[in-house]
Amino acid sequence: MGTEEQPGPGGINKEVRLKGVNRQQLILRAVDVEKLIEPEHPARAIWELVGRLDLSRFTATIESVEGEPGRPAYDPRLLISLWIYAYSEGVSSAREVARRCEYHPAYQWLTGCEGVNHHSLSDFRVGHQAELDELFAQVLGALSAEGLITLERVMHDGTKVKALASGKSFRREKTLREHLEQARQRVREMGDPRQEPPSVRHAQARERAAREKVERMEQALEEMRKVQAAPNARRAPAEQRVSETDPEARIMKQSGGGCAPSHNLQISTDAAHSLIVGVGVTQSANDEGQLLPALDEVQRNLGRLPRQVVVDAGFTTKETILEMAERQVDFLGSTVEAEKRSRPGPGVAAAFGAEAFVYQAECDNYRCPAGKELPCRGLHRTRRVGVVYHVYSARTADCRGCVFRPKCCAGASPRRIFRVQDAPVVEAFKAKMQTAGAQAILRLRGAVAEFPHAWLKAKIGLRQFRVRGLKKVRCEALWACLAYNLAQWVRLRWRPQQAAAPA
Ligand code: SF4
Repeated sequence: MGTEEQPGPGGINKEVRLKGVNRQQLILRAVDVEKLIEPEHPARAIWELVGRLDLSRFTATIESVEGEPGRPAYDPRLLISLWIYAYSEGVSSAREVARRCEYHPAYQWLTGCEGVNHHSLSDFRVGHQAELDELFAQVLGALSAEGLITLERVMHDGTKVKALASGKSFRREKTLREHLEQARQRVREMGDPRQEPPSVRHAQARERAAREKVERMEQALEEMRKVQAAPNARRAPAEQRVSETDPEARIMKQSGGGCAPSHNLQISTDAAHSLIVGVGVTQSANDEGQLLPALDEVQRNLGRLPRQVVVDAGFTTKETILEMAERQVDFLGSTVEAEKRSRPGPGVAAAFGAEAFVYQAECDNYRCPAGKELPCRGLHRTRRVGVVYHVYSARTADCRGCVFRPKCCAGASPRRIFRVQDAPVVEAFKAKMQTAGAQAILRLRGAVAEFPHAWLKAKIGLRQFRVRGLKKVRCEALWACLAYNLAQWVRLRWRPQQAAAPA
């Protein structure tokens, strides 16, 4: 191509010769598809493991049949392998997967150098939730059969993953209703010939978009009713907001600080080899109450409960302690908070709060600031589980003649004090958590339970979901966790077996 003059021997200038680039040519090249990737490439491992699974539930939904017109459907084994491999490489866009099928050796090996339509990939990812759940359980069964899952000790934790919605998409009910009416008006106008777009395809796309917008607005109003009815709602109903873009997303605190529309991804990890044995997605901004559904999920996946479950303080409630004892699961968690002393009721001075009364265990009564005794009057009925309230009441005659009465008694009745006592199971749990053995296991929790979270976010890039709505988000979480589990299987079993196999 180019030439340059260089001084040669004896000072004679000669032109150097460079290899040129010719982009104006057509090249036909023979491709040995089998040799596109090396023998120990993880794509081969994924293809092999997926091939061992029963995919009949996926094929049962395929409409294309032999002897009938129409194009053959993509093999579910191919689409599953493609998605698992793509997620393991941090690729979560259907268009990007389709693009890579055109040039990337691993994707080409999986597809046999055929292209795959991105619509098919996209629909497949979120269109088979029940089948995907079953697939996840089948993979766990295979890993369990190889001794990689024992359920001897499961560590559980939740992490917030951003939703595909911005904070600005959150609206009050009044605005949602206005936008719903505008969207419905838009659908009504679709039949107006003056509004006709240039092509039928364009018209269909516009109509679909308008209809989906109406559906989203209706769903947003439905979610608004749930948010307004929530028992722990902090804002007045008219001030509550719901996202128009992903109505099932909720504003949640992020680990790095700040708040963002998110979903709470719950992951149960088997401690033997850090494999994920349960996946859940909730709208709850905190982890309280999420452990029992997670255990149900593990039991559905593997047919049995773990022997031991370890969690952090966010999950450790008295209700959970009692339920775990009921299910005969050894439960370890950060010790539950001591019952907070109730603030003095209305009409009672701060100096005469419950702390001013001294409990005398030997005779089971309280001594008040005036030196009078408050005997036990029995148990107080409460809906709270895991605790028992004992009621102590002063004698009417003592309070009637007492100089402290204006500060100590709210009304005409004599003063009452409640003593809170944990249920025996909670007491036993607290005692267990004081032992060095329990504390040593608790210290392992972070490394085991938080490792999959870190891997999913750092390696797979699951910091934000690519789909909207809880059902689809759960599908994406399952794909990501499948990719995680298979990556661990490749590391723990497949690669060592490949290395040990005779050449
Ligand atoms: S009002 Fe009753 S309970 Fe309170 S200090 Fe006096 S005697 Fe004790």
